[in-house]
Amino acid sequence: MKLKHLEMTLQRLAGFSRPQAALEQYQTPAPLAARLLYHALMKGDIEGKRVCDLGCGTGVLAIGAALLGAASVTGVDIDEKALAVARENAALLKTDVAFLAADVREGGCRERIGACDTVVMNPPFGAQKAHADRPFIDCALAVAGVTYSIFNAGSIPFAESYTAQRAEITEKIGGAFPIRRTFAFHTKDVQEIEVEILCLKRTR
Ligand code: SAH
Repeated sequence: MKLKHLEMTLQRLAGFSRPQAALEQYQTPAPLAARLLYHALMKGDIEGKRVCDLGCGTGVLAIGAALLGAASVTGVDIDEKALAVARENAALLKTDVAFLAADVREGGCRERIGACDTVVMNPPFGAQKAHADRPFIDCALAVAGVTYSIFNAGSIPFAESYTAQRAEITEKIGGAFPIRRTFAFHTKDVQEIEVEILCLKRTR
């Protein structure tokens, strides 16, 4: 599947029916999701691999990984309502994704979710609850050797120090994340935030 085709296909997926600010529920826009997935594909980290999407929401990254030929895909989210939309989205595109309700803050990720080869994720950035992204990074490093994650632009110093001795950042891909007015505290119709996709490779 070509990048443009993937992007157009992911565009068809339904979003959160009633997004919750506290959980930072923002669906990754199709162009950014496709860019992350295609990049991981080109690096050999999707096709034939066991892929996990932490904080999968409505499933855009998980379903995209399945479309690109992952051997198996697991999508994990704390919110059952989001998972219900994700299951419908997976069925719409005839993809096989296992969805699991779990809170990544509880630890024991490797036992509860199982080992996989690659994590793809767009976790909360910690805008509502400081450090909300940390348990996602911990969980990702517990389940997979390679992680592609979306962060706020300028997060490399944080990501490097937080994962020191555990992982190294092997790549950075810039991108934009247009956020439509979703919550009461949003003042603009569309606000574009600069983001970066970082690839973290476990070092131990
Ligand atoms: N990855 C999806 C959704 C991004 S929004 C996408 O790219 O479109 C962040 C997601 O993280 C939400 O779906 C939210 O429900 C989930 N989430 C927030 N806190 C969580 C936690 N502690 N454990 C698991 N999922 C969580």
